[in-house]
Amino acid sequence: MNSDTQANFWTSTIVERTTPRPRLEARIQADVAIVGAGFTGLWSAYYLKTLAPALDIVVIEAEHVGHGASGRNGGWVVGNLAGLERHIGDLPAAQRRDCCRVVADNVDEIGKVLERENIQADFNKGGALYAAARYPDQISIQKNYLAHLHELGHSETDCYWLDAEQLAQKARFRNGYGGIHHRQVATINPAKLVTGLAEAVERLGVTIYEHSRVTTLGRRKVSTHEGAVEATTIVCAMEGYAERLHDFKRHVIPVQSLVIATEPLSDELWQEIGMAERPAFADASRLINYGHRSADGRIVFGARGSYRFGAKPKHDMAITQDDIRMRRDLLVDLFPVLKGVKIDYGWGGSLGLSRNFRPHAILDREKGIATAGGYAGEGVAASHLFGRTLADLILERDCELARMPWAFVGAGHRQLIKRWEPEPLRWLAAQTITYSYAGEEALMQRARPAPLIKPALTRANDYFASIIE
Ligand SMILES: Cc1cc2nc3c(=O)[nH]c(=O)nc-3n(C[C@H](O)[C@H](O)[C@H](O)COP(=O)(O)OP(=O)(O)OC[C@H]3O[C@@H](n4cnc5c(N)ncnc54)[C@H](O)[C@@H]3O)c2cc1C
Repeated sequence: MNSDTQANFWTSTIVERTTPRPRLEARIQADVAIVGAGFTGLWSAYYLKTLAPALDIVVIEAEHVGHGASGRNGGWVVGNLAGLERHIGDLPAAQRRDCCRVVADNVDEIGKVLERENIQADFNKGGALYAAARYPDQISIQKNYLAHLHELGHSETDCYWLDAEQLAQKARFRNGYGGIHHRQVATINPAKLVTGLAEAVERLGVTIYEHSRVTTLGRRKVSTHEGAVEATTIVCAMEGYAERLHDFKRHVIPVQSLVIATEPLSDELWQEIGMAERPAFADASRLINYGHRSADGRIVFGARGSYRFGAKPKHDMAITQDDIRMRRDLLVDLFPVLKGVKIDYGWGGSLGLSRNFRPHAILDREKGIATAGGYAGEGVAASHLFGRTLADLILERDCELARMPWAFVGAGHRQLIKRWEPEPLRWLAAQTITYSYAGEEALMQRARPAPLIKPALTRANDYFASIIE
């Protein structure tokens, strides 16, 4: 494959629209104006319109539906939230369990809506394997993670330990020592989901404007180069792509994430690897790797994030041959039978990381601005939950979602989310943490004792993780 071409596997699976969506070229009025046609914006529109059909709702997108992370991600639909402990860590156990039940059930809720709306997005609830797949040190990392999930409030029926034999029945890694099975995880084809969802909200009567970048956000008004919308409520759903709206970018920055997809694997290879239930999988690494078996029999595999100086989001898809090679080598390290397998696609995009390292759903009713994001790489399921929550907050519904600790009314994002430090501090911190994590991984790989360096590096990385996870 050519790294200079756009090479997002998911977009190759959908049929391009023949009729373009309109641009915003007039001054109009609406009840709700939503900025950004990714999952957050579209789920907000979906629930607002379903709960209050009379509302006049418009979505304004700078590029096209699914241009951002929603059309490019790894397809995991996780019954958890990155940074959940920061919202619920201090709550009583019963309340923590309620919150965990809400995020776990969210996966089934998504499955139900897709069925109801006939959105064919290859939704498959095969659970996730968080494996100790390569080094013995990973066993204690995963066992500690399982204890953390239970302590947080996730149930033992949803998250439980698989020994080596049980793990091998689900997937056969190079050194499958054991791992966690998280039942409440599904996978989807994100491009099919985001385009199907856009069509579903249009069927409900929502208008989506494409190629209409919002350049200014005023009091109950957004403007593009060619038009403007006055609305009672404005929903800002730009997550990692908010670059021109600086006020948001100061609080939620883009982090790059890259993904590859193999060629479709032969039946013989699948016999060796397993994964008959098409589970999602990851192994214990602070540098993060995650994958799943796609509906057409490929492995879609993402690994490692990076931060670009100046918080620049990734608009193009292309990634370099080095980026592809690194991810392929990691995948082959997990499944040596894949040596020699062809990589058909490689692409990247930006996710949004909040300075509070936790996701948020915020309604500042006085200013008429709502926003959600900061999902830190676990946004596919979260954007459904948070878009739905924004709808409940905007409609002043007295319901469980509106009472969740991540739902805020009364103050704005400026008050509720800290501001990121200026450059070059952000960039230097990102580099230090990346190298430190890579050093720890290299030591694990060597499997030779390093009595001085290893504990010190682990302590340093535990500290970094406590600040950012
Ligand atoms: C490579 C990659 C892999 C990932 N893998 C996973 C995964 O496996 N599982 C998971 O849970 N999460 C994953 N994520 C994260 C997840 O995809 C995102 O958190 C989620 O899609 C965010 O959705 P969103 O609608 O909030 O933002 P986005 O999908 O990023 O949409 C924001 C939209 O706002 C538009 N926009 C920005 N500024 C303006 C403006 N001024 N005017 C108009 N429109 C504007 C953008 O063009 C964009 O379309 C991944 C992310 C990436 C990049």
